[in-house]
Amino acid sequence: NKQVILRDHVSGFPKESDFDFTTTTVQLRVPEGSNSVLVKNLYLSCDPYMRSRMGKPDPSSASPAQSFAPGKPIIGFGVSRVIESAHPDYNKGDLLWGFVGWEEYSVITPIPNVHFKIQDTDVPLSYYTGILGMPGMTAYAGFYEICSPKKGETVYVSAASGAVGQLVGQFAKMMGCYVVGSAGSKEKVDLLKNKFGFDDAFNYKEEQDLTAALKRCFPKGIDIYFENVGGKMLDAVLLNMNPHGRIAVCGMISQYNLKDHEGVHNLSSIIYKRIRIQGFAVFDFYEKYSKFLEFVIPCIKEGKIAYVEDVAEGLEKGPEALVGLFHGKNVGKQVVVVAHE
Ligand code: NDP
Repeated sequence: NKQVILRDHVSGFPKESDFDFTTTTVQLRVPEGSNSVLVKNLYLSCDPYMRSRMGKPDPSSASPAQSFAPGKPIIGFGVSRVIESAHPDYNKGDLLWGFVGWEEYSVITPIPNVHFKIQDTDVPLSYYTGILGMPGMTAYAGFYEICSPKKGETVYVSAASGAVGQLVGQFAKMMGCYVVGSAGSKEKVDLLKNKFGFDDAFNYKEEQDLTAALKRCFPKGIDIYFENVGGKMLDAVLLNMNPHGRIAVCGMISQYNLKDHEGVHNLSSIIYKRIRIQGFAVFDFYEKYSKFLEFVIPCIKEGKIAYVEDVAEGLEKGPEALVGLFHGKNVGKQVVVVAHE
């Protein structure tokens, strides 16, 4: 069983050398009398939150995420096939998505709202790491539940070409909003405009003055900001928000590898403009997952939603793909293929 191991807790930007490979020869079995299943892992998901699990346990941190154990396989979302089952709800051959080890085979105990049985296999299975999995639910809950969107409003999405951002932008277009996204390369900006149907997009790395860039894209101001990056971007957005605007704080990836988070200077805009700013965690919304699938699967099949993945082939490419998220190397949802079936 090939595994990706965390060598030691990470500080600063994670590097490929923070990870190791091992191969264990222990025969994996489902313990008798357990509720466990033995799964073959097919696709693994690279997600920004995994950075918070790479650090040392820190009781003073606001993050509820538990640290990965050095010397053990790291854990993340994956799509897997059941090989052997002692669980009453899972049979051999069933597919599921949820937390598994970064390894070829895992023994897990499926937990409702942590592991989800895959019913619709008429779509690429890797989609359950993204549009049909946790990031898709994040975009859905974050946009429809937190942003209180209305037709005709202006919406700004940062990290807009990624797993979550590309979907938020398309949901906002479906709602009849004016949507602008930012991303870190020309290729990504082209995708936003030409593939995902954003009204406008810009490369934030090429802008000297983010406040001016947002003013140019939103001469009448921003009603909704879907926050994925934090830091300087949030500051610039605050100055461009409209009265009674909403900010859904999904993530702040620009801060995840910094020892001291950057200060935000324009918070008083929240008062002057009566802005509602709300953080959210996707797992609070999983009871809506089946409703989400009923909405999104037809959109995919009818071509109403475009979806772009960045696929790394082989478990050995996993660390490079994961680390790449924090340098914007991924174009679309970053997936690692462990096995195709
Ligand atoms: P992405 O697929 O968007 O990948 C991460 C992207 O972030 C990179 O490609 C890069 O794109 C951008 N990025 C990296 N570093 C920086 C930086 N310093 N400044 C600005 N942008 C940067 O990831 P996801 O779509 O999976 O996640 C997006 C956000 O949503 C993250 O903040 C994540 O933590 C959050 N999230 C929150 C959840 C919740 O429950 N609240 C659940 C899931 C995700 P670029 O080239 O454009 O810089």
